[in-house]
Amino acid sequence: MSAFLEQSIEYLKGVGPRKAELFKKEVGVKTYMDLLEYFPFRFEDRRKLYRINEVKDTATTVQVVGQIVSITEEGEGRKKRLRALLKDDTGDLELVWFSGRDWVRKNIKLQNTYLIQGKPQSFRGQISIAHPEFVLYEKDQLKRELSIRPIYHLTDALKRTGVSNKLIFQLTKQIVFHRDFAVPEWLPQHILEEENLVNLRNALAWIHHPSSIEQINQALKRLKFNELFLLQFKINHYKATRAARLSSYSFEHIGAHFNHFYKDELSFNLTNAQKRVIKEIRRDVQSGAQMNRLVQGDVGSGKTIVAWFAMLIALDNQTQTAFMAPTEILARQHFETLSEYAQNIGVEIAILTGSTKKKEREAILESLQNGSLDILIGTHALIEDPVRFNKLGLAIIDEQHRFGVAQRAKIWTKYNPAPHVLVMTATPIPRTLAMTLYGDLDVSVIDEMPPGRKPTRTIHKYNSKLSEVLLFAEKQIEQGKQVYIVYPLINESEKLDYQDLMSAYDDIARYFPLPKYHIGLVHGQLNAKEKDDEMLRFKKGDTQILMATTVIEVGVNVPNANVMIIVNAERFGLSQLHQLRGRVGRSSTQAYCILLTGDKLSQTGKKRMEAMVSTTNGFELAELDLKLRGPGEIDGTRQSGLVDLKLSSITQDEPLLIQVQKCIERLLSLDMDLEQAQHRALKNHLKAKGLGAQWRRIS
Ligand code: ADP
Ligand code: MG
Repeated sequence: MSAFLEQSIEYLKGVGPRKAELFKKEVGVKTYMDLLEYFPFRFEDRRKLYRINEVKDTATTVQVVGQIVSITEEGEGRKKRLRALLKDDTGDLELVWFSGRDWVRKNIKLQNTYLIQGKPQSFRGQISIAHPEFVLYEKDQLKRELSIRPIYHLTDALKRTGVSNKLIFQLTKQIVFHRDFAVPEWLPQHILEEENLVNLRNALAWIHHPSSIEQINQALKRLKFNELFLLQFKINHYKATRAARLSSYSFEHIGAHFNHFYKDELSFNLTNAQKRVIKEIRRDVQSGAQMNRLVQGDVGSGKTIVAWFAMLIALDNQTQTAFMAPTEILARQHFETLSEYAQNIGVEIAILTGSTKKKEREAILESLQNGSLDILIGTHALIEDPVRFNKLGLAIIDEQHRFGVAQRAKIWTKYNPAPHVLVMTATPIPRTLAMTLYGDLDVSVIDEMPPGRKPTRTIHKYNSKLSEVLLFAEKQIEQGKQVYIVYPLINESEKLDYQDLMSAYDDIARYFPLPKYHIGLVHGQLNAKEKDDEMLRFKKGDTQILMATTVIEVGVNVPNANVMIIVNAERFGLSQLHQLRGRVGRSSTQAYCILLTGDKLSQTGKKRMEAMVSTTNGFELAELDLKLRGPGEIDGTRQSGLVDLKLSSITQDEPLLIQVQKCIERLLSLDMDLEQAQHRALKNHLKAKGLGAQWRRIS
């Protein structure tokens, strides 16, 4: 960075120590460069000069040149105001000041001609402008004054000390029109040309001082490109380097276990989607490079069996599999399913969780190390230190869409060669998000449901209809079915949420009294074991109703439950609602999802409910969810902590994001480690941004 841009803004005319301190405290702006990176969020077009008879009561700012023909002080006490009359050859316009009257009196002179700017308003049929900006009219200055004005987010404290959009405009002017103003370019020239981007110097000058809409667009494109480039670079680089360098086992055989199971044990036909994904996995694991594949498939699409075939391939090639689930209950569920698959084909399988007893644990660790155990299922316990596989060939992570690159790597870094990695998620992720969150993974999609499923019927009702809904639930229970009732977390504090849930529980318990009915209760204040026990009671049918906060969200399988009631459904996002709905509809009987909401629903709330009622397709819902959340809300990427997006949004700027992705891919295929002289500035910039930490040279 140039010394010029690193100067403190304190030395700009109009700042001084007090404002400088406040800039730092309020918005983190210290240097010239910081100020230039304090971007406006919208622009006001002030290029048009109005004549007074054109001024209407519109909310937009107008510019007028005229002569002051009268100045009068009116009113008493608090109602005191200063009135001036501005005149041009088409009419006259009233200007009013309620505060700062003395200052205005001193600075505005009768008979002089001024350029005034402000928002006209109408009061009793009379148009006036309150507190207009004004400058003495000078013909040759006019063009500069009639410009496009950037509008900035200003905090109250900044405003109170006199920081305004106008002041920032004047400050950035001192920087970008200074003869020392230069900005080191970090994108290589060939990218600027290929992508049709303006250089950084122009982009920063134009975003604060545009002379046309075109310049704003050019500046925005370049600055958004910067953000998205930094967001994507690391993940793309990671993918490219790993694909080139990380070798793994090459699973060449489809052997006895796979064939035996496929011929004799599989009780249904695989769907075409399942077959396709198994083929994709086979291709990966044969290649000799490490597989890193994400399998996305809606709830109930049959991911487990796909994972099972991958495990059999690993086994047929004399290696072991680690299968990780996010919770103990899910691990146990998988253990039960896979134990059944395993029993007739001679596969050794075990489960390891936080609650595995010491003796059993030791036996498991022993058989892992001597290689007699083929598959180990478990929770996070699987990545803990004493766990050592003899030959880990495959690591499967189920339902872990919240795992980042680094966390995933933790599972396998202690093994050489690295195992193949398969991630499975039921949370459909829109394409744009997948590119940034999972840019390092290849994606397979199971986009077909096993035959014979009845889609869950979804109904939206208002909270006031609760008793009707409970009556419906009662009838289902009479037919031997089970019911979920889900409450959202509402309060900041767990304690208050707990109280809410308990008072709701009292109501439900009054409706469904003992001894006929048994109600289970699962919430955040229970420990893992207590939660699991409660879930198991429901699974076994000891309880007919399970009331819960969202802890039941992921993966739980109780086929006999066919009613899902979600209270205050408007408080959940679409993806969450879809996940919850996926808990029912797991058998051949008709399932129901009932969304209860308050009667005062927001527009977005209404759209969400309509979407839920109209489709059961998780991918459609995920796309819609992202759109409904809007640009103001946090994008998933921001949580990933990679880069702060000030200007761009991965939902709104999808075409640009795709352009950036392709650009990075081309760049990396040209110069993977950025060793060419033309990429030196880029490499240094990435390092400075903390994005260059993992350069690995081929050894
Ligand atoms: P998910 O993708 O949600 O993890 P599962 O793997 O748990 O789904 O499968 C849900 C149910 O569908 C299981 O009972 C499974 O045995 C069954 N299933 C999977 N694939 C098929 C298929 N091709 N035909 C019929 N049933 C299937
Ligand atoms: Mg599953």
